Amino acid sequence: MSMFDDIPVDVGVIYEGERIRWPDTYVELGGPKVEYKFELVKVRSPDEVEDGKTVIIGPDIKDLKKGSYPFGIYIEVAGRDLDEELEGVIERRIHEYCNYIEGFMHLNQRYDIWIRISKRSVEKGLNSLKYVGKVLQRLFKSELPIIEKMQVTFITDPEKVKEKFKEAMETYEKRDAKARGLKDEDVEAFYGCVLCQSFAPTHVCVITPQRYSNCGAISWFDGRAAARIDPKGPVFRINKGECIDPIRGEYTGVNEIVKMKSGGEIKRVWLYSAFGYPHTSCGCFEAVAFYIPEVEGFGIVHRGFAEKTPNGLPFSTLADSTAGGRQVDGFHGISIEYMRSEKFLQAEGGWKSIVWMPEAVKEKVKDFIPKEMIDKIPTEKDVSNIEELKKFLEARNHPVVAKWKVEVEKPPVKEAVTAPTETAAQPPVTVTAMPVGASAPSGGFKIILKNAKIHARRVIIRRRE
Ligand code: SF4
Repeated sequence: MSMFDDIPVDVGVIYEGERIRWPDTYVELGGPKVEYKFELVKVRSPDEVEDGKTVIIGPDIKDLKKGSYPFGIYIEVAGRDLDEELEGVIERRIHEYCNYIEGFMHLNQRYDIWIRISKRSVEKGLNSLKYVGKVLQRLFKSELPIIEKMQVTFITDPEKVKEKFKEAMETYEKRDAKARGLKDEDVEAFYGCVLCQSFAPTHVCVITPQRYSNCGAISWFDGRAAARIDPKGPVFRINKGECIDPIRGEYTGVNEIVKMKSGGEIKRVWLYSAFGYPHTSCGCFEAVAFYIPEVEGFGIVHRGFAEKTPNGLPFSTLADSTAGGRQVDGFHGISIEYMRSEKFLQAEGGWKSIVWMPEAVKEKVKDFIPKEMIDKIPTEKDVSNIEELKKFLEARNHPVVAKWKVEVEKPPVKEAVTAPTETAAQPPVTVTAMPVGASAPSGGFKIILKNAKIHARRVIIRRRE
């Protein structure tokens, strides 16, 4: 007899990674169309938690019509060995366990959750959130026996979601602030997480005090707590080993464990760089740092930004170029908290390399942007395309402008003719920040390849008669 016999749909690890398209959706909870959504775990004293209880505040699944609704998941747990430090870790497992439910898709985390329930599963009987509560309680208690009592509250009432959203945001900020001040050099171990391998099989998050997890939900302290309570779970300790490169952030211990956990796919990682061997990106990063070759700097775009970035691409397209557990030069999944770190894109010059970001993100991290850079970084309110971006950066004398000048001062290219039909430049995902130079001075022409990685079946270069 299975522990899910009374649940009207299947529950199992095989449903992890299941995607539900809009035409197949019965209802969407949270997601990009609604402002208020969250998931939060709180540790309580045993007398404050009624074990096994599920509360639904607002309309239940069967009472909702197709559409997108504000949504909150509020879980209270109690147990002798539980403390506040474990809240973030338990919270991150909501994503995994919800995805075990057939026809129930859970994406992202914290204030960004996005849930879809399929029509098929509702037809099979998944018409109430009380079933989801039961599944969560059973999975959490069997996988993490440290949880002795658990009570789940689902909120669909828009006013109540908004009310609790404030508490959630304050809790996240408190957790994040705790890790600030601790440096990577000060600790002996980092932590790794492979929770997202169901979506991106070669992805391994490396969580350090100064490089928060991509999803923004697991700090170094959370990693440490998770590895302690569930040593065989998806979060594990990484002995740093030797630091080979302090600027790019390369450690022997990180390379070894990432290679092993990625099945040999990823052999090296530069923790503080978006080029060369960047940290992989799964799909639930909070934001993308994307290289803009025209201005030799990075734009940042977060998940909630609905407009187009100055290069004409929206978050979704940039995220597609970034995700999948790959190391993509110049396309880098990051958390908002990482932007508050001194190591933020350190190898590329940190904040001096940032050339654009949405106003909402700038507002969140403004206290961490060096004062001299604040007015040099435009938002969607200042520029909307590359030409405007160039003009803005030039007018404010942004540090990247100095790089353009170096380029102008270089000797002119004499002649380089290529056959356009037989060469194919890679799409932007392959652009690199490290200038690649190739020249043949004795042959009477010179080619400079800068900020480009070109893959071509055949290149023909002819001297013009
Ligand atoms: S983004 Fe990274 S830290 Fe967050 S759940 Fe996925 S693998 Fe773990």
